Amino acid sequence: MTFTSTNDLSLRVSLREAVFNGSAADGGLYLPVKIPRLPAALFANLSTLDLHQVGYLVMSSLLGDAMPLSVVKAIVDDTLNFEMPVVPITTRAGLHVMELFHGPTMCFKDVGARFMARLVSYLRRGMSSSGTLNVLVASSGDTGSAVANGFRDVKGVRVIVLYPTGVVNYIQESQFATLGDNVVAVEVNGTFDDCKRLVEEAFADERLRREVPLTSATSVNIARLLPQAIYYFHAVGQLQRAGVDTGRGVTLAVPCANLGNLASGLLAWRMGLPVKRFLAVENENNIFYRYMTTGNFEPRPSLSSIAPALDAGKPGNFARVAALTGSLQAARGIIEAHCCNDDDIVNAMRTAWTRDKYLIDPNTAVAYHAADSLASADEPTVVLATAHASKLKHTVEQVLGIELPLPRQLARFLEGRRRVTSLPSGYTAFRRFLFALPK
Ligand SMILES: *Cc1c(COP(=O)(O)O)cnc(C)c1O
Repeated sequence: MTFTSTNDLSLRVSLREAVFNGSAADGGLYLPVKIPRLPAALFANLSTLDLHQVGYLVMSSLLGDAMPLSVVKAIVDDTLNFEMPVVPITTRAGLHVMELFHGPTMCFKDVGARFMARLVSYLRRGMSSSGTLNVLVASSGDTGSAVANGFRDVKGVRVIVLYPTGVVNYIQESQFATLGDNVVAVEVNGTFDDCKRLVEEAFADERLRREVPLTSATSVNIARLLPQAIYYFHAVGQLQRAGVDTGRGVTLAVPCANLGNLASGLLAWRMGLPVKRFLAVENENNIFYRYMTTGNFEPRPSLSSIAPALDAGKPGNFARVAALTGSLQAARGIIEAHCCNDDDIVNAMRTAWTRDKYLIDPNTAVAYHAADSLASADEPTVVLATAHASKLKHTVEQVLGIELPLPRQLARFLEGRRRVTSLPSGYTAFRRFLFALPK
């Protein structure tokens, strides 16, 4: 598989270049030159495949010409090696939930991060460059922990997580700051935007990059995006297995921030998956909703909400969504954009809990809110649940008036010893820190 850029369709790069560059030199995002279309007969049989088989089917179709099939299989199996099966939960007639959070940090980002880590490890084997590769990631919570846990134990790679003081909660921080070994937690005395700027400055620093190998692991990286398509195939297959008629296509409700998850869903759709429509749901940071309504893409500073994973003012994968759909009109044909405020989020969490006896986190709640008003037996709708409710334990406890025990999977992080480096928000100190790292 070769890749092109959303800014320059004549560009061609290999999988290796796409993964290590992160984004194209022209600022565009990588996409496959040709998206493989799977045979229609296959979709009738999706229900007979388990998650690992679906994973292999999707990833071998995408990457089978770039690496040996045995390697694709090994990476997929290791990535999806979860403690719990991913099965649909029906909360009321026509409304289903797929919990995409059974990985180590209980967030859907685990799959992309784990896949990327294993792919990077494989691709580096064929490269002559020596020295530790540093994966820089600015995080306000979920990304840092998913990437740190994904790359944990990957030899020759160090993850550096930059996060703003006072924004990331103690439970989230423990998911990367206690890993030690090849994960370095850097607390920046500033905002999330300062963290992102420090990462950008490091990438633009040519002298630094000659001595300190760097790469990025945001959802802009194609290695995180491709494997997320597996979820969508699995969701449709599992609905079929549960006896739901998917003949007219399935509606998928996606909580959106940087639009990486949605872009992966669109990729699955372009591969032939029978999708009726996507509900792309934001919180009050409704940049995509405004675009779909007015035709103008206007990023703005982010607002903070009770669904913090959705607080993005400049959706990083927007260009991919535009390229995968083709035009605004075509996008409107397959995506229905929605947005909601904190009150809607609270209401959706309470409805799910009291009416449907089901616990959702505030980020998932935006999708639940939109899906609940539309789902019916005629339009089976799947809400993609992106994180376990206990990741935002305090918010969920307050909203629902319950006590939420921390699952063992997250509680064990709290037992580890924290190792944190504190830095000011200026670039000089961060630069000195990077130069001083062991090579
Ligand atoms: C990252 C994240 C999202 C948003 O996904 P995007 O790919 O950025 O649109 C939604 N929910 C949770 C819990 C997340 O961590």
